[in-house]
Amino acid sequence: MIVDDWIAEKIGLPDGEALTREALEAWQLARLRETLSYAAARSSFYRERLTEPGLHSSFDGSSSAVDHNNFRSLRSLSDAARLPFTTPRDLAEEGIRMVCIPASQVDRIVTLPTTGTTGPPKRVWFTGADQELMIDYIHHGLPVMTGPGDVFLVLMPCERPGSVGELVAAGVERIGSRALRVGAIPADGSRDGEALEIMRREGVTTGLATAPTAARLAAKSAGDAVIAGNMRTILLSAQFISDADRRVIEAAWGCKAYEHYGMTEMGLGGAMACEVRAGYHPREADLLFEIIDPDTGEVLPEGEYGEIVFTTLTRRAMPLIRYRTGDFSRWIPGRCPCGSVLKRLGKVADRAERKDY
Ligand SMILES: [Zn+2]
Repeated sequence: MIVDDWIAEKIGLPDGEALTREALEAWQLARLRETLSYAAARSSFYRERLTEPGLHSSFDGSSSAVDHNNFRSLRSLSDAARLPFTTPRDLAEEGIRMVCIPASQVDRIVTLPTTGTTGPPKRVWFTGADQELMIDYIHHGLPVMTGPGDVFLVLMPCERPGSVGELVAAGVERIGSRALRVGAIPADGSRDGEALEIMRREGVTTGLATAPTAARLAAKSAGDAVIAGNMRTILLSAQFISDADRRVIEAAWGCKAYEHYGMTEMGLGGAMACEVRAGYHPREADLLFEIIDPDTGEVLPEGEYGEIVFTTLTRRAMPLIRYRTGDFSRWIPGRCPCGSVLKRLGKVADRAERKDY
């Protein structure tokens, strides 16, 4: 339970004290209030949203003008259900008004196409510290599948500082793996031979790729004893992951495939499989997840399928509050057999509209 130990340390529990849901949720509530106050004080978009008539008064019992009240009347995490949603459309059209820091403190801006509309693209802003959160997550989340001595192939964009592949490469290097930054390869397969040659020559043992890319490479290298002999694990990320693709990969390479769910708006990392490989544990110290009914907006109970909504708890450049992902999943009831106290998100059902990385 490396991730639990990391979160225990991150939220300030005394040395050796095990993570509990109570401690984690107390941290989440404190960070949620802090994020709301921070966003309302620094962003005109959130100031308006969070002080709409009725909303403000429902939180502090008065309808007085904006004092941002530290959102003390938010007494439990379930009170988050009273906060307004933020949508991808808000991000595209009003993103600039969500930014909470001066331009001089911005380290990276990721531009995402807005699929299916003619509207402006979404832009997600990050400070250096915002990006360090992802590197730290990889450092503490990926030892389940990689360690010193591994040769880790990165088949996602890593040419620019702060791109997903580069942050993952930096994280696995902290674990002691050797990262090979190859970058994304085209879907038409024109660089597949090159990627497979690198896998043979460098003795690649693990890596990161989208599921379709890994499945294509696996199918082309089925029967290759060198590659299969070296490969131990693979991390599949960024797109909907079909069971068929996963089976092709595991069969051809004789390796264990781990799945990850995330998107740029989450700060890339969202939730990751543990060794049980049934569901994804969210990065709960940094993100508050909810599952809602997409039609009514009501929060759904454990076990029911709905839309995934998240709130960033530790981001500075551009916090996102109750951001509607358009993705669907459910909470898997009960404690994970791995022993973690983190919740478990079930398989993400539909990512048709997302092309974030
Ligand atoms: Zn688990």
